[in-house]
Amino acid sequence: MNLHDIVLPITPATLWTATEMVTGFLGALFLGARFLPGLERAGYPQPDGVVKDYKLTGMTLFFVAHMVVGVMVFGFGISLTPVVMHFWSLFAVALAIAVLITAVLYFQGRRDGLGRSSSNVVQDLWLGNELNPTWLGVDLKMFMYQPSLIGANLLVVAFANAQHDLHGKITPQMACLLGFWWAYLFTHYVKEEFMLSTWDVIAEKFGFMLVWGDLVYVPFLYTLPCWWLVDEKVPFVAWQWGGLSLLCLASLWVFREANWQKERYKRTPNATIWGKKPELVGGRLLASGWWGIGRKINYTGEIGVYICFALTTGFEHAWPYLLPLSLIALLSQRAARDDKKCASKYGEVWTAYCARTRFRMIPFVY
Ligand code: NDP
Repeated sequence: MNLHDIVLPITPATLWTATEMVTGFLGALFLGARFLPGLERAGYPQPDGVVKDYKLTGMTLFFVAHMVVGVMVFGFGISLTPVVMHFWSLFAVALAIAVLITAVLYFQGRRDGLGRSSSNVVQDLWLGNELNPTWLGVDLKMFMYQPSLIGANLLVVAFANAQHDLHGKITPQMACLLGFWWAYLFTHYVKEEFMLSTWDVIAEKFGFMLVWGDLVYVPFLYTLPCWWLVDEKVPFVAWQWGGLSLLCLASLWVFREANWQKERYKRTPNATIWGKKPELVGGRLLASGWWGIGRKINYTGEIGVYICFALTTGFEHAWPYLLPLSLIALLSQRAARDDKKCASKYGEVWTAYCARTRFRMIPFVY
């Protein structure tokens, strides 16, 4: 039997089971975010100057998810393969819930007098009409990263479980994807406060674009390589999984370290970078560490990680590369938008920084 023999078509019964799974998962994470301990951190000034306080529970939820899945799988022998079997129903339910949450947020915003105007209904639904919607004290924008990332990670674990159930083993390339995802999430949560400095958290309102991204795009697209990994019969040999692991770790290092350097500089301007006093352009823009090598090198590192996800499937299939390709499209247009924003915010200082750090994403190329 292969993966495609066990994945169920969408029926009322599978939709019902998927609804129980998704609502149970979201509900448990929401209660965890509401009641479990987390780091208290101040955010960055929003466009209106307000500084919001956050409770960051991501690492707690990540840890609890490990405990629960570990006890289920290794303690009680419960298989996660049914998650994969219901993949398409889970996808449909997640999409429906994203639409429902968007509608609730829209009407909540209108009720609170935050909607722009009725002629902009589509824009309000797509981009959202509230910057920081909060339910029962939980900041929704920060919360939604948890079902997104932990959900994607759980799907990868479920695909690995399905490979074991179907073929009695986990291949080295599947182990690579599991390891890469774990490292990606651990390095995300270990400094979760860096998220507070991102454009999405500071300035984007919360509408369908972000809700759909969190609940549908990330969990269901980022796990795409799994479809080609489960039935793969030829295991990677040592140089393949070893080389790929090194490439993934190097990309992850660039991605995280660049973000952490900027975050550290913004919170503690005198903190050293790679052992030296930070070099600044115009006293405002960091030109040390990775920010002296590429103006958007953090995007390059992230794209490198997604290329490694796809490379676990080898070169025989094109579809897994849709993941890095979609990120290349998304992040390069975002880099261009951010360049424009910085040029207008920093003026001549930005021009001087571009002259100092000449390349955007790939040193000596672009
Ligand atoms: P950045 O973290 O690159 O932040 C850009 C902002 O940082 C600029 O607008 C400017 O803001 C400030 N800045 C830029 N250069 C400098 C400098 N040299 N010194 C000091 N400040 C500087 O971008 P994002 O917020 O878009 O992304 C954050 C991370 O999230 C990235 O690693 C990205 O890869 C990832 N991401 C992932 C996505 C996904 O779907 N996987 C989607 C979007 C982002 P200011 O006005 O504050 O100075």
